[in-house]
Amino acid sequence: MLIVRGIYRRLLRTEDLAEPCFLCLCTGKHQLHIYQDCMHVYWIPFFPHRKKGTFECGHCGQTLEPEFANPGMKERYRSTRKKCRTPLFMFTGPAIFTLLLVHVLFIAPILQRNAIMEHVNHPRPGDVYSIVQEKKYFLLRIERVSGDTVFMRQSKLSTDKRRGLKDGEFHSKDAYSAFTKPFLRSELIEMYDKNELLEVDAE
Ligand SMILES: [Zn+2]
Repeated sequence: MLIVRGIYRRLLRTEDLAEPCFLCLCTGKHQLHIYQDCMHVYWIPFFPHRKKGTFECGHCGQTLEPEFANPGMKERYRSTRKKCRTPLFMFTGPAIFTLLLVHVLFIAPILQRNAIMEHVNHPRPGDVYSIVQEKKYFLLRIERVSGDTVFMRQSKLSTDKRRGLKDGEFHSKDAYSAFTKPFLRSELIEMYDKNELLEVDAE
């Protein structure tokens, strides 16, 4: 899979320097720039990479890395760099990733349970329950409801893969047994809690 990633640079701060350019000796156009590099994935800022600076002369265009500067300029670089904060947007990627993880681990299961409990608490003829028991997947279809008891027909077929339940044979006219089996609603809730009731397909 092709993943587009790379590093981009953002200018955090520019300060004018009193020292002349070491090459053309021009004063007044000598500046210190502090940059922050950031790793991106598909252009979404993912992680701040490194913060660094460059001395640049606006007159002759000469640049100088801080490690080659004189002690005074080095100190100026260090103190200026310290004042620059990493922009918060550079943590956008980890923030999105954390939100997705919270959704998948905590919110989605709650929403799924609420949706299934809504059907179990208001059962209607025609609702189809996907069930797995002893590694076999099959369907239960509500035939009728009487008080707290739900009468269901079981699919004649079963499969060892969940996606097999989508096959046409499971949804043909005579796919279900002629006999109904009673279930208390509390039993259906128990099946959900035991991870046996996987989904409800309401008509
Ligand atoms: Zn210069």
